[in-house]
Amino acid sequence: MLTAVLDDGRLISLVSPEFSRTELNFLRQNGKFFCPVCHSPVLLKLGTRKRWHFSHKPENPCLIESEPESAIHLAGKEDLFLWTSQNGRSPLLEHYLPSIHQRADLFLPGIEPIAFEYQCSTLPEKKMAERTDGYQRMGINPVWILGSTRFRKKGSLLKIAGFETEAIRYMPQQSSARFPFFSPYYLCYYQPGERRFCFAAQLYPATETLFITREINQPLQKIKPYQIIFPTFPVNQSSFKQQWLKLKKHQRLTPFVHGSETEYRLRIYAYRMKKNLTYFPAFVGLPHEDYVHLLSPPYLWQMWVCLIFQSQPGKRLFVENIIHGIENRGAGAIFTKRNLPLCPQRSLNQMIRIYLNQLVFLRVLEKSEEGYRMHKSYLMRKEDSLERLLYEDQKVLDQLEKAYLI
Ligand SMILES: [Zn+2]
Repeated sequence: MLTAVLDDGRLISLVSPEFSRTELNFLRQNGKFFCPVCHSPVLLKLGTRKRWHFSHKPENPCLIESEPESAIHLAGKEDLFLWTSQNGRSPLLEHYLPSIHQRADLFLPGIEPIAFEYQCSTLPEKKMAERTDGYQRMGINPVWILGSTRFRKKGSLLKIAGFETEAIRYMPQQSSARFPFFSPYYLCYYQPGERRFCFAAQLYPATETLFITREINQPLQKIKPYQIIFPTFPVNQSSFKQQWLKLKKHQRLTPFVHGSETEYRLRIYAYRMKKNLTYFPAFVGLPHEDYVHLLSPPYLWQMWVCLIFQSQPGKRLFVENIIHGIENRGAGAIFTKRNLPLCPQRSLNQMIRIYLNQLVFLRVLEKSEEGYRMHKSYLMRKEDSLERLLYEDQKVLDQLEKAYLI
């Protein structure tokens, strides 16, 4: 912690105004420091390795749960405090909200209050969800900024796992319709050593934990606090199509390595229908930004949707028929939702409808009041060669891109 209460009830902060070592030593020799939350005595640490800070005695842990603070966490918290102050806000450092038993790293009071949380250590997902919910119930907008060590690349993909996904935000008021394949979903990281923010912008899910993203670095001094909530990213999605095609090729050539229960069921089902999963049609595995709300990669759940159509040739189906069809085959888990409490919610029904309408646009399905029906030519079609499919993957993306531009 960077704040404590003195014997006389005064709250002191190690950040602003700054104290010298002599002054702090004097205070330490002539009195005690107490935790502003639980009022138990705390120790002042004036070491050289970490930033000076207060800490609870091991035998006297705080009433509220908190993670041990690393040097990077203390440094980041201090930077964010000074940055919001310099930008005309009146931040409260380590502000305690007794009604929800939470202490925000940084609290910005106002008409639309904001709680900044700089999260470096791992949090259980449940804990993260509770904290977010606590703030939201009080009408506070929680802004989770992740420690930069959590920015982990795997090839060109970004790994976002566990509680980190719950920090994903959604850019409001951007007219995504004008930009093909523009995703308004993003994450924010902060690196105290270099004093810069790193945005993982334009998130598209590739697998359960890997995402296509665009990395955008911005120095702390060049950005205002509101821009964390209303960021403006330069639009450039030229590389998106290439990345998506590379991913799809990979999915064709190395499918089902993880062998989850739903994948296993899919394999059995496809086998019964005499389908080779490597040769899935190009209209399976279509991108859309809102598919981030599902944990499964798009090509897997979309494969199920198409197999349901192919299992009932000529029949008109509604969204509900498709969901039930998949549930009845024991694969309902394919539709597990990703917990995104900071984004507008999307129902399963909405997401499947988006996909079906993409298929209508690609002339794979026809739509009428009685539902959706797959065109005969797709039901009867023999499997294409891999070369042909890779070509079609590209063509389908080009067509979808045009849909945005209409
Ligand atoms: Zn305490």
